[in-house]
Amino acid sequence: MLIGGRLVGAEGDPLGVLNPATEETVGHVPDATDAQLDAAVSAARGAFETWRTTSVDERRAVLTACAASVRGHIEELAVLLTTEQGKPLADARVEIAAFADWLDAHAALPYTDEEITETGTHRVRIRRVPLGVVAGIVPWNYPVVIAAKKIAPALLAGNALVLKPSPHTPLTTLRIGELLADVVPAGVLNTVSGGDSLGPRLTGHPGIRKIAFVGSTATGREVMASAARTLARVTLELGGNDPAIVLPDVDLDEVVPRVFWTCFANSGQLCIAAKRVYVHEEIYDAFAERFASLARSVKVGNGLEDGVQLGPLQNRAQYEKVVGLIKETVGSGARLLVEGAIPDGPGYFVHPTVVDDPADDSAIVTREPFGPVVPLLRFRDLDDVVRRANDSEYGLSGTVWSRDLAAAEELAARIEVGTVWINQEAIPAPDLPFGGHKSSGLGVENGVEGVREHTDTQVLSIRS
Ligand code: NAD
Repeated sequence: MLIGGRLVGAEGDPLGVLNPATEETVGHVPDATDAQLDAAVSAARGAFETWRTTSVDERRAVLTACAASVRGHIEELAVLLTTEQGKPLADARVEIAAFADWLDAHAALPYTDEEITETGTHRVRIRRVPLGVVAGIVPWNYPVVIAAKKIAPALLAGNALVLKPSPHTPLTTLRIGELLADVVPAGVLNTVSGGDSLGPRLTGHPGIRKIAFVGSTATGREVMASAARTLARVTLELGGNDPAIVLPDVDLDEVVPRVFWTCFANSGQLCIAAKRVYVHEEIYDAFAERFASLARSVKVGNGLEDGVQLGPLQNRAQYEKVVGLIKETVGSGARLLVEGAIPDGPGYFVHPTVVDDPADDSAIVTREPFGPVVPLLRFRDLDDVVRRANDSEYGLSGTVWSRDLAAAEELAARIEVGTVWINQEAIPAPDLPFGGHKSSGLGVENGVEGVREHTDTQVLSIRS
């Protein structure tokens, strides 16, 4: 762990980290004690007193230096990420590069911590004041790029950060902390690892002024309850059950693979993956046939092997949840267009599974699977598909596919979600605000708005 600029080891028994492709232990990390957590928060608080006085441009330079440092270690970090997370090595390389790109993009944001307006007799300064110590809490699906989304805005706004990876995927994050120890002033960035108790200990710590949380909706509720006691600010990026809506005028050759990878990238373990695919009845059969044949052709395996397109589920609990959902779907009488293999033996592998037009109230439609299983659903008219797309507690994002841009845009605006991508895969951008509606979250990350969520506003109203 990186605490106050120093690398710190385990004080008690370390925690083992498994490779989900082999179920072998691939490393150990410290299980942070209360004293180590206190040390991290107090180091951050101490460093904050100086860091808050730096200019935004000085902070931009530190982010850029962090990006360069990580970019110099892409291959090493990508292998480590595949080994602990399971994703194919090519995707791991993309994720490490995205970490660096995210920091660079934040360094270039048109963020300013002070705006001044003047009239003849009145001058107003609106200052964006950093909060203090931010807790960044990250899930296991995209541990590295989500860590960048915690580091970049917190530091640019002038805060110090205590970053906590998931107990399932701590290795790459701690290694990045080690690399950045020489780049970031001591205490401004701290990394702590631990088991299930560490998250609540961190969010409940009286020294934390903001919690930037990414994870499930259930945990998000606990984080918000914990923050109620300290009045720490929160941003919550939570679960989703994102609809993709395919209109009848699309070019199937182009759109089927794009919708497919919007569903199955990272084995479906992506908050903004399409999880319900509504296809117009005029093209449903042709779409389903191509989609199913693509699902059958995908190479699933250990992400370190050449040509593998999808790795395993990341951990046993997630694997059991997804396998259980598939069994429940079959048990409910729904027809599978593709029944993906669930091989015996080591590794949490589930091959892509496609469900043929199940009932709207079936679990595969109403729950967030977070795995490689997707229902295709027939629709006839737009009002009906809008109602069904919005009939969810979630509201994270969605996609709309059509050659008629005006119709697609009008449809997209009726979907109750934070982002709709039209004719493109779901990929967040560092300069655009991203956040969920309804139970998918609170507040936004990314862009200038995301940085401002790491500040309090102070108005100085001056009469001359
Ligand atoms: P999770 O909620 O189980 O865990 C997320 C993180 O919170 C981990 O670091 C975990 O150790 C920590 N944690 C667990 N209990 C805690 C508590 N009581 N207090 C504080 N921290 C606690 O989520 P997960 O299973 O790791 O990730 C999958 C979920 O994350 C999915 O629901 C997915 O949709 C969501 N997700 C959302 C986004 C987004 O941007 N909206 C992005 C990625 C993942």
